Amino acid sequence: MLFLVVIIFALLLFLWAARQKLHRHQEALRRLGQSLARKQPFLGEEDPALLGLEFQQLCGTANDLVTGYNRLSQFSNSQLAQIDATLGSLKEAVMILDEQNRIMLANGALHALFPRTRGVPQQRLELALDSREFLEYVIAVRNGNAPTQQEVEFIDGGASIWVEATGALIPAIDQPTGFWALFVLHDVTRQKKLEGLRRDFVANVSHELRTPLSVIKGYVETLVDGGRDLPVEDREQFLLTIQRHTERLNSLLEDLLTLSRLESATPGLNAEKINFAALISGVVEDVGRRPAATGHNIKVLLEPGVGELSVDPLKITQVFENLIDNALKYTPRGAVIEVTAKLENAGVEVCVRDNGPGIPAEDLSRIFERFYRVDKGRSREKGGTGLGLSIVKHIIQLHGGRVWAESELGKGAAFFFSLPRRNE
Ligand code: ADP
Repeated sequence: MLFLVVIIFALLLFLWAARQKLHRHQEALRRLGQSLARKQPFLGEEDPALLGLEFQQLCGTANDLVTGYNRLSQFSNSQLAQIDATLGSLKEAVMILDEQNRIMLANGALHALFPRTRGVPQQRLELALDSREFLEYVIAVRNGNAPTQQEVEFIDGGASIWVEATGALIPAIDQPTGFWALFVLHDVTRQKKLEGLRRDFVANVSHELRTPLSVIKGYVETLVDGGRDLPVEDREQFLLTIQRHTERLNSLLEDLLTLSRLESATPGLNAEKINFAALISGVVEDVGRRPAATGHNIKVLLEPGVGELSVDPLKITQVFENLIDNALKYTPRGAVIEVTAKLENAGVEVCVRDNGPGIPAEDLSRIFERFYRVDKGRSREKGGTGLGLSIVKHIIQLHGGRVWAESELGKGAAFFFSLPRRNE
């Protein structure tokens, strides 16, 4: 009996000891887990030796791994920081993508180009930038079959951003194997826009030249082939048509030359102090004597004190001529044209107003563009080139002024420009 009691007691003691040990193991494992989660070496108060050799080995290996991981992560962070500092000063936009297409590094120029990449660390490329073409280029770079450079379009808030992208694989910074990808993006949006403008311009010029040239060619051919058999009146009519179209070509070329000079790096502003009121009166008198002005009533209203102004008189004369010419061209006989000048903000504000048909609101903001016409047929029939207002805008901007138009359909159009008083 006593023997049985001793055995039961010993068994209970053994079970209690085993439970204590198990509990210690569980507790130690929980703390080891916590240390690993915090990426810190395990320094439990429990002596690992108490928990057995295996647990001691496990803790040693875990601590080695944590130390190695920390060293590697410190190294990669410092490498990224170094690269970041180097790329930060570059004017070209640069970004580094990891294998999951997360943006691991983007320099200031890239943030400036794509503000959506700012402030979100390790953002996914697809979320930050909108360009299927670029994603395909990234894949091609990873597969090693990408061209050295590729032109790519990004859509940002409805607007296009064009870049020349160059990509290369680099060793992954966070692991000994694997590759990340580095991209340099050169912003070519401005060049692309200019290219588009140039293309449109060449197309417009060709179109404008084609009509008068083909008319001249047709009539000249008729005159050459059977000119002698033609009645004299028909011949004269043909010659007059040729003359009209030659004049049209001539004014087009003159306007084009004027524009190209104004847009050049040396537009040649020959400013001199002149009596501004006298200049206006002189131009109006000249224009008023032209046949086109017959039947129109041109008035000049000058505020006293407009006085002297430093401007290029030839160029400002051209501005007045273009604006008054337009008012004469686009209004019927009997229309009133008013030229006013008043002192405004230490400069002068001029207005050429007519009471003709006016300009529709949707065209008003575009009439200063090259070759923009509200009614193409009417402009050509009146000998217009579509460049007059563009020349006006350039001349006024060269003087540091501003030009704008106001109109109410059926009630006339008013063209304003301001000229600052310059201290020369
Ligand atoms: P254009 O040689 O055709 O006159 P402009 O550049 O001088 O070219 O003018 C651009 C367009 O603006 C004209 O084709 C015309 O449709 C419109 N426009 C200019 N001035 C007036 C005006 N005073 N009244 C109505 N429309 C005008």
